[in-house]
Amino acid sequence: MKTIVIDPGHGGYDYGAGDGVRYEKDDNLRLGLALAARLRRDGYNVVLTRSTDIFVPLIDRSVISNTNNADLFISLHRNWAASPSANGVENFVQSGSPQTNAVYAWNVLSRLAGAGVQNTRGVSYDNFSVLRNTWAPAQLLESGFVTNAVDNMLFDRNFDAYVDAIANGIAESVGPPDQGNGGADANIIRGIQRTLNNRYGASLAPDGVYGPATKRGIVRGLQTELNRLYGANLIADGVFGPATRRAVRLLRRGDRSNLVYLLQAALYGAGYYLTPDGDFGPATETAVKSFQAADGLTPDGVAGRDTFSALFGAGGGSGSGDADGGNDSGNTDGGNDSGDGNGSGDADGGSGSGDGNNNVGNADIIRGIQRTLNNRYGTALAADGIYDPATERGVVRGLQTELNRLYGANVAADGVWGPATRLAVRPLKRGNRNNLVYLLQAALYGEGYYLTPDGIFGAATEAAVKSFQAANGLTADGIAGRDTFSVVFR
Ligand SMILES: [Zn+2]
Repeated sequence: MKTIVIDPGHGGYDYGAGDGVRYEKDDNLRLGLALAARLRRDGYNVVLTRSTDIFVPLIDRSVISNTNNADLFISLHRNWAASPSANGVENFVQSGSPQTNAVYAWNVLSRLAGAGVQNTRGVSYDNFSVLRNTWAPAQLLESGFVTNAVDNMLFDRNFDAYVDAIANGIAESVGPPDQGNGGADANIIRGIQRTLNNRYGASLAPDGVYGPATKRGIVRGLQTELNRLYGANLIADGVFGPATRRAVRLLRRGDRSNLVYLLQAALYGAGYYLTPDGDFGPATETAVKSFQAADGLTPDGVAGRDTFSALFGAGGGSGSGDADGGNDSGNTDGGNDSGDGNGSGDADGGSGSGDGNNNVGNADIIRGIQRTLNNRYGTALAADGIYDPATERGVVRGLQTELNRLYGANVAADGVWGPATRLAVRPLKRGNRNNLVYLLQAALYGEGYYLTPDGIFGAATEAAVKSFQAANGLTADGIAGRDTFSVVFR
């Protein structure tokens, strides 16, 4: 049966966008519940990431979709703009994701266009956590601006038509509820699991679900093949660490080996559609390019250390586009992490920020941050309510100033995050209360994590730090140290 995961955006203390009276978390939930009811009536298996007014971390929303082997994921939001005249519906897909995602998004949006909306803004590409970390074809629908009176009126008046339009667009995308799988095929995953069991002695349940155990099975296969082919002398433990990374050789079009099969299996599991057959052909090359683009790597279609690192969730790619298989000594992982309370965490992860830092986040709060930076640290930021690179540099400058003041760090307060600043950072944790905490909160807020920047490291800040760490492949311990700061300011 087809599984649709519906993700009503925000919730709980995260109100999302609002106009002071009306908040998107409520509209998102109302729409999500109605859409779920409609799709269930049609025979689909529907999973909601939340069905009440609770906060769900961004990464958990993707995990819910991934563990349910969804055929389609739709995140429901309402848009925000400083100008009350901005209006219209818009659907987002992850930059660099397969064409399927944009087609599915268009199926929904084009139907919504005929359901009594004011304006259709089109399908757009962006980099949102819920899209990036979800394996199923994923879309993030902004059903009008919560800051536009006409959009709100139409949302309420045409609510049932909106629900029907979205449901019909989903049905067109994935097909009837009980027919063959439109996305990742459980039978193909089962085939991968059986192959890993047979070839590499993995003991995976052939359940058709690509989860962490299957991923470890692939890494174990990779290690075994690297030992066999190149005498890499790795421990075949299924853990992708620095030694395995170093042992990886480039795979490219024309190659044909068990290593290619393992690469294909991992790509398939990550939601890239190809036939795992051990043959590196055009479809595999396209999948590698798509994966690289979505992960901030140079999309050259050649899979090497960075690509494997990104596939298996370990660090490596510095985001600077360094050549796979080349000299990676410049990667961001430098330095002693012992001050971080996070010995194993690596300063790398996916690129990008939390969901929707363009269209969520309260501009007044960002304006407050900009004014605070100007007052405290002599930045000359326009208080325009937009968390842009200049604002982020202002936060770094504040951080450098505070590190000098508090710890005599003697770093240049130039707003540029570099090795000296990284080295000067001390861990921040629950219970701390100072200007450094404020700066951390400001940066997290700017990245789309919802908390009140008040200089007090309380439960909400801890939750935001954990959520940020999890979304970026760091140990989610809620303690912000060098690794966490490095990813925030990278
Ligand atoms: Zn939103």
